[in-house]
Amino acid sequence: MMLIRCVENFFGIKEMVVMECIMCLRALCVNQKNKGGYGLQSIVEKLGPLRSKYALKFIIKPNSLLNRVLKAKYENDLWNVANRASWSSTWKLIQKGSEHLLPIMRWRIVNGIKVDTFKDTWILDKTIKKWPTFVTVLDPEFFHVSVFLSEGAWNREKLKQCFGLSLIELIVSIPIHSDQDEDEIECIQKLSGRTITNLAYEKNFENIGIDESYRWRKKLKLKPKIDILWWRLSKNSIPTYAFLLYRRLAESGGCPRGCMELEDTEHVIFKCYLVKKFIKLLADWHFIIPDFDSLAGCYQVLQNLASSNPFLGNLLCSVVFYCWNSRNKFVHGGKDDTGYTIATRSIIQTVSSFDTCLIRNNWDANKLFKLSKSS
Ligand SMILES: [Zn+2]
Repeated sequence: MMLIRCVENFFGIKEMVVMECIMCLRALCVNQKNKGGYGLQSIVEKLGPLRSKYALKFIIKPNSLLNRVLKAKYENDLWNVANRASWSSTWKLIQKGSEHLLPIMRWRIVNGIKVDTFKDTWILDKTIKKWPTFVTVLDPEFFHVSVFLSEGAWNREKLKQCFGLSLIELIVSIPIHSDQDEDEIECIQKLSGRTITNLAYEKNFENIGIDESYRWRKKLKLKPKIDILWWRLSKNSIPTYAFLLYRRLAESGGCPRGCMELEDTEHVIFKCYLVKKFIKLLADWHFIIPDFDSLAGCYQVLQNLASSNPFLGNLLCSVVFYCWNSRNKFVHGGKDDTGYTIATRSIIQTVSSFDTCLIRNNWDANKLFKLSKSS
């Protein structure tokens, strides 16, 4: 809440917009690195996966004193959520962990008595009730996998009553461990060298796709502050006047610099007369950025430059970043930076993005000849 108040006071915008911006930033930061995020670990989202290891201990160590007491009181069903109000804190913690454990575990078939045909995971990595093409069989006879087994082998005749041919072939390929006493739950990803907590936490991000702009942003080697701005631009989530007008938080959606145009994401990136002026100034200095006339065109140009000329792509991103910074100063009572200031800052920023040892390499640039290393 304090953070929201600080941002609200600093930028002079409403709480709702600040919350929206913070939620976007959170989504970026928490998402995994290989999907375009910053890979920060969210404590709130890690709570369930951290508890999953206690749920696993409850399953694999049934004879410990604690587990025997819990079994006597709550039975052996981890996923039964009835009578939650009367649960002890220990059982609530284990039960919460089991919710995150379930998607990464699979039943090892011995006799199939403990395995629910439709609710439990025993084929590949999904329960049958989540398969989009499967019609649930309502006959209670088929509710347990034990029905489909006879004399330690799969019974094809029984399987045919519930499943199609391709699914039967898949089920028949599942090994039956007749040498053991009862069905056991095991991790789907065996010998991965990763902890249960890690696997359960990663499962949370399974349905989040890779950010489309991530590939070219990574190749352009943008500094984090510029990278975050461009990620927000790609999500159309910066508080332009068009954005504020749409939410009835501003009276007009026009550009504050007097362009007589709606200030939307396109305007911020390339339509504003000031951005055009700076890009032209850079062209005069022989940094010629390819032309584009739409947002999609801009991202396509950046994608092409990421492979052919990342320096130029980085320079374009830096110019837009400093123009946006200058616009914010102007909106909050300051003065717009001059064209030369923005152009030189952008070039310095771009050079430093590609050469992290810039200062150290030029340490003796202005020293007397006799004091330099080469003398
Ligand atoms: Zn403008």
